[in-house]
Amino acid sequence: MNHFELGDGEHGGPELYCEDTPLAKIAEAVGTPVYVYSSATLERHFTVLRDALVAAGLKDPLVAFAVKANPNVAVLRTLAKAGAGADVVSEGEVRRALAAGVPPERIVFSGVGKSEAEIAFALQAGVAEINLESEPELRLVDAVAERLGKRATVAIRVNPDVEAGGHAKISTGKAENKFGVSLAEAERLYAQASNMAGVRPVGVACHIGSQITDLAPLEAAFRKMRALVERLRAEGLSVERLDLGGGLGAPYFNAPTPPAPADYAAMIARVMAGLPTIQFAFEPGRMIAANAGVLVARVQHVHARPEGRKFLVLDAAMNDLLRPAMYDAYHDIRPVRPREGEPQPYDVVGPICETGDTFTRDRLLPPLEAGDLVAFMTAGAYGAAMSSEYNSRLLVPEVLVKGADYAVVRPRPTYDDMLARERSAPWL
Ligand SMILES: *Cc1c(COP(=O)(O)O)cnc(C)c1O
Repeated sequence: MNHFELGDGEHGGPELYCEDTPLAKIAEAVGTPVYVYSSATLERHFTVLRDALVAAGLKDPLVAFAVKANPNVAVLRTLAKAGAGADVVSEGEVRRALAAGVPPERIVFSGVGKSEAEIAFALQAGVAEINLESEPELRLVDAVAERLGKRATVAIRVNPDVEAGGHAKISTGKAENKFGVSLAEAERLYAQASNMAGVRPVGVACHIGSQITDLAPLEAAFRKMRALVERLRAEGLSVERLDLGGGLGAPYFNAPTPPAPADYAAMIARVMAGLPTIQFAFEPGRMIAANAGVLVARVQHVHARPEGRKFLVLDAAMNDLLRPAMYDAYHDIRPVRPREGEPQPYDVVGPICETGDTFTRDRLLPPLEAGDLVAFMTAGAYGAAMSSEYNSRLLVPEVLVKGADYAVVRPRPTYDDMLARERSAPWL
């Protein structure tokens, strides 16, 4: 569930709210396009997941929000205050998590190609765990830690060779994907790591994909992970943590309904039943942030072609919300102040001169006119996070709502800000 609902509008009709704040009020004050996040939805999703895991009998699970889904520091702080950790994939994300008040002992550092500098930074910061994706990375972390006089707490990221994920670009758990090592390789690396001075292996990790709406592939992967833990322990190696990644889907309206957190937790409890003491870690991104955010845009023009096609030209573009262009993603689109009348098919497009700048085609929407506001629903994950200044459009601002209050948590830059980042060259 989320906290974006129709309520009574000041204009006399219904209008879309984020919690107790009308989206139109924010659009008026901040301008469009603008991302709007609900604190209550963020907190709720985190709490529902954590409580479900605890209720299923998992002791003290670490729920580390995948920062890449929504790296805004105010969003991270909202989750950190609710008890979330952070799953990070770069030094920038470590810094964001720390700036948001996530304690280092709740930060997990994942990622396929961490640089020496990033590893050193993470070790100095004291992150809880570095997830290693290959043997060269194991050797690099060992060397960096030794040089710093530290011992890195590490987990081995395993690729359990299971097909999952809502789209080829977000499937990560097949053997052909670049992520992690095979189960057999993990066993060998774990043993090797436990003899190294610069690292201390504490567990194994997996993350098989994103937008997963079926528990079966997760269960298949988790069974393999359990068996791996048991094999490692049988070899006399200590395994304290099992990181099961993220990947649970979000409800995008046209997609299959993702599993309920309670069912996910119950499946894990079933698969792990009887496994002696282990701490479970999770790295959810999308399921926490996706429907905690919307992108509000204004209709610039309604452009009706003589042969009948109707284009809804918005002031938001693919640089603000890349998912439709990148993943053919579906976002529900709702008028902020719905007008009466028969729904009509619209092609919803942005102003960028590129056919990819099409959010959707032939979408049935209530009648819309120039100046109307629309909200792209379920845009809180991989929305602003993937935004850019393509076409020299200003970076889209972000607003966090709490009840009837809201705060601009990333202001729209000015054109001077944008230009000030660049320099001429001495010969020009
Ligand atoms: C992207 C990613 C996640 C989060 O995935 P979601 O589908 O947003 O839950 C978790 N762990 C790792 C290692 C990732 O790369």
